[in-house]
Amino acid sequence: MSSNVSERQAREVAEAARESEWGLPSFGKELFLGNFRLDLIHPQPSSDPGAVQKGERFLAQLREFLESDVDPLEIERDARIPDRVIEGLKRLGALGMKVSEEYGGLGLSQVYYNRALALAGVWHGSLSALLSAHQSIGVAEPLRLFGTEEQRRKWLPLVARDHISAFLLTESDVGSDPARMASTATPVQGGYELTGQKLWATNGAIADVVVVMAQVPKGDGHRGGISAFVLPYDSDGVSVEHRNQFMGLRGIENSVTRLDHVFVPEENRIGREGEGLKIALTTLNTGRLALPAICVGMAKWATKVGREWSTERVQWGRPIGKHDAVAQKLAFIGASAFGLEAMLDVASRLADSKSGDIRIEAAIAKLYGSEMGWKVLDELIQIRGGRGYETAASLKARGEKPVPAEQALRDMRINRIFEGSTEIMHLLIAREAVDQHLQVAGDLLEPGGEVKDRIAAAGRAGAFYSKWLPQLAVGKGQLPRSYDELGALAPYMRFAERGSRRLARSIFYGMTRWQAKLEYRQAFLGRLVDIGAELFAMAAAAAYADTIGREQPERRAEAQELAELFCRQAKRRVEALFGELWDNEDDANRAAAARLLDGRYRWLEDGIVDPSGTGPMIPDEVKQSAAGEVKESAAGEAARAGALG
Ligand SMILES: Cc1cc2nc3c(=O)[nH]c(=O)nc-3n(C[C@H](O)[C@H](O)[C@H](O)COP(=O)(O)OP(=O)(O)OC[C@H]3O[C@@H](n4cnc5c(N)ncnc54)[C@H](O)[C@@H]3O)c2cc1C
Repeated sequence: MSSNVSERQAREVAEAARESEWGLPSFGKELFLGNFRLDLIHPQPSSDPGAVQKGERFLAQLREFLESDVDPLEIERDARIPDRVIEGLKRLGALGMKVSEEYGGLGLSQVYYNRALALAGVWHGSLSALLSAHQSIGVAEPLRLFGTEEQRRKWLPLVARDHISAFLLTESDVGSDPARMASTATPVQGGYELTGQKLWATNGAIADVVVVMAQVPKGDGHRGGISAFVLPYDSDGVSVEHRNQFMGLRGIENSVTRLDHVFVPEENRIGREGEGLKIALTTLNTGRLALPAICVGMAKWATKVGREWSTERVQWGRPIGKHDAVAQKLAFIGASAFGLEAMLDVASRLADSKSGDIRIEAAIAKLYGSEMGWKVLDELIQIRGGRGYETAASLKARGEKPVPAEQALRDMRINRIFEGSTEIMHLLIAREAVDQHLQVAGDLLEPGGEVKDRIAAAGRAGAFYSKWLPQLAVGKGQLPRSYDELGALAPYMRFAERGSRRLARSIFYGMTRWQAKLEYRQAFLGRLVDIGAELFAMAAAAAYADTIGREQPERRAEAQELAELFCRQAKRRVEALFGELWDNEDDANRAAAARLLDGRYRWLEDGIVDPSGTGPMIPDEVKQSAAGEVKESAAGEAARAGALG
């Protein structure tokens, strides 16, 4: 498949990877349908006291270890995590945070796993990257969800204790579009032979055991397709060809790994042939919470540094925090930290209590956390002025507190790219948001198709829309006293309820206007998703403030204030996004981009000298697209599978 991937094939691969069932209620799904089900996330489930005790104990140990044994400046300077630190993490059991006790892990809840990642990530981003690549996408999670009991008994104790794992999906020509995968798993006696080259595997330079995705060719007794394998890294034919270096996360051990006729026994295949992407995607439904957890940690840290610095630093006769421009930024940083934490806590408690389908909420948390986290750190740098741009080591050498703001920004940047870039997350979430519509009217939206299918679809659509559309006209958000039990937050919940219905109407207008071509309207879809994200965040902020009030009554008023502040800011963003849905420059921009790509404005590039030199952006030997062929993965459907590595 890899050498000639059409848009349709890419789309089919992605669609097949999608989890199509909705077994549990989903706040996110309902939100996009105009059904603001606050009751699905509020009141939040209480945490199990045993889990809290265990989690707090571990956090205390981790904190002590970080403060006493790990020097973040050393990691930054040497661009690696020292062996003694990795050994220390192993001793603490940090490699097995998510693995249940039954298999030798700590069995932390999602809430405490998040907190541990945030703690480690704030100390140095490379630590949380190591831990989360190892257990959110590495061997443990896919085996926990899809492995056989035998596989779990064999591998989970190892990865929980001291075997570092990695996840090998990406290739030079396979980023957001796994249908292009060139690595193969050829069936041989007793198993498969893996061949290919994998790019950017976090932990891949020091791993002991990895998950590899490779294409099994269709053949006798083999349904084929992208499949997942557990591969011991000391197998013959595995070689690490390069350790990659990045803008940030300087300490990660990220590899180019060659697989040269590597034998992997059949019992190491996870799930069935062809289920590789589905396994990866389902794993990420919850696994994706790790990344926003790290963003939450950074936003909380930015709040602390912003407060301390803006109080101490005096310019023009006042602490800078008293100058309006800086105060505005501080309010944004603090509110965002609260909103992000609320979103994460809501999704994570749902994950722990298994009371909701959180695939949309976790995806939103990833998208929103990485985007807002980036803005928060950018504002922190601005507040810190020249010191924001200076390295921690340089600050220290001059005798100042080594605040690693510039490093935090560099480390944070990748979060908008990996585990599903922002663009891909927009499409993935948009696909889930229109799922109900596709189920009832998909055959109508697609051009062509059988007449009888279209007639049946018209019947289904008529029945659904004649009931659904009228429901979008009125709702609780129009009742002046609704949500009054939430006090000052009530107006914002009324706004969010109305917003949810308006969002659903906008999706419907978009579908009727562009029909199947809606998937190419990525800017429009992106705004719809961003509106949904803000509305979810507002609801989460209200739910979380209430939880804090219950669990820590002395903080009730402060939590309400922060939630209200966050909702004020989010409401403004929602209003702007709604405005831009129908009043924008999308068409002009798209046309201009086409002209730019055609080279019409090449003269604009005169007068510079390009330090990148010459040579191919992607080596010819791995490049698979041929001129004149439409190779791009269409939006929506295809992009979903790109949200993996
Ligand atoms: C530090 C680091 C660590 C990583 N760790 C791992 C790992 O452990 N395991 C692993 O397998 N991979 C890993 N990756 C790979 C990572 O997941 C990919 O970089 C990511 O999936 C994006 O792929 P790409 O870089 O090839 O970008 P491309 O897919 O080439 O995308 C380029 C740009 O085009 C946009 N784009 C692509 N397709 C579409 C579309 N259909 N519609 C709209 N926009 C689109 C993207 O959003 C992006 O802006 C890592 C990467 C880095 C840099």
